[in-house]
Amino acid sequence: MSFSSLPLSDKLLSVLAQKGYQQPTAIQAEAIPAILAGQDIMASAQTGTGKTAAFTLPLLQLLLEKTSASSAAKNKLPKVLVLAPTRELAVQVNTNVSQYAINTDITSLVIYGGVSIDAQAAKLASGVDVIVATPGRLLDHVRRGSLNLSTIEHLVFDEADRMLDMGFMDEISAILKQLPAKRQTLLFSATFSGAIFDLSKKLLHKPVRIEV
Ligand code: AMP
Repeated sequence: MSFSSLPLSDKLLSVLAQKGYQQPTAIQAEAIPAILAGQDIMASAQTGTGKTAAFTLPLLQLLLEKTSASSAAKNKLPKVLVLAPTRELAVQVNTNVSQYAINTDITSLVIYGGVSIDAQAAKLASGVDVIVATPGRLLDHVRRGSLNLSTIEHLVFDEADRMLDMGFMDEISAILKQLPAKRQTLLFSATFSGAIFDLSKKLLHKPVRIEV
């Protein structure tokens, strides 16, 4: 299978060619068509499997197919929210999103704690399409009114098991209350414990199960 057999824009395919990716990894081959079709996903995937591109590429494609991504920055409302357990992972995912979106007008912002909240709020106010965040600081923004999550259409949990291990369940529940019920949810986890299954039952609607 080649990437060009997937219904992805040339704007995305050219980045993959530049990076020298020959073909989709196993998780990409399964996840990309399902995500493009609007399905929820429950995927077990370790780091190194290509999981970041597995959700980033189809979500960017879905954004490209909407008009908002090409609108002026100040009119942008966030459509994609990626939750990650640590600042390091959030930064890494956001770097990937920016790289894959380089030929597009899609913008992304990474949000994490331990740095000035005002600077992040100013960037949020200027309008972004994709937010990659750790749960605690994201909730701070919601509570102080610098972020409204009602426009989110696609929610991703990256390393969901680590998020639960780190005690983020309360924050996750509070964030979920702010999100539209009608949305696409993608859950990626290295391991699947009872707690992850409980979370997935709450979160996912008829998910496609992917194991690589
Ligand atoms: P991840 O599992 O998302 O952390 O990705 C692991 C590494 O694989 C990253 O350095 C990616 O740039 C790289 N990668 C992702 N997809 C592909 C692909 N289809 N072919 C070759 N390398 C890839």
